[in-house]
Amino acid sequence: MALIKCKECGKEISDNTPSCPNCGYVYKKNNNLKLVVIILSSLIVLLLLILSLVLIKEKLDDDRYEDRNDTYIDDFNDNQGNGSNNNSSNNYISRSDVLDIVLKDLNINRSDVYDLSIDLENKFGKTVYDVDFNYNRFEYEYYIDAVSGEIVKSFREWD
Ligand SMILES: [Zn+2]
Repeated sequence: MALIKCKECGKEISDNTPSCPNCGYVYKKNNNLKLVVIILSSLIVLLLLILSLVLIKEKLDDDRYEDRNDTYIDDFNDNQGNGSNNNSSNNYISRSDVLDIVLKDLNINRSDVYDLSIDLENKFGKTVYDVDFNYNRFEYEYYIDAVSGEIVKSFREWD
């Protein structure tokens, strides 16, 4: 228990007295009001904190959803050269065009190649189709510029 000066009359009074014995100024009510304000502020801060956590969690869920979309696009790109056109908004040549370029370069038919895979990759500072397949006991790899159709690089190795 400490002594404080009364706000109203300036006389020294006990700091836990409900009201000033000298002038009648009521303190307890004031303290209760302060306590209510503190509790309400704490509740508001707590609510904001919970709200932020919920929003952060929703954001994380959104990111995960976008990841799934990426996977879907990857699956689409993994579609092997079956003549389907790439309908996306880019200027890339289609997979069937890529296959035609490679077959023409080797002067062979589609039925000659097996284990074919055509994937879009970023290599040599541009977007290229990475074409892998086997033909005549050799393993071939072609890099075709995805825009111009130019053969960037090709090589083969004994299977
Ligand atoms: Zn007083």
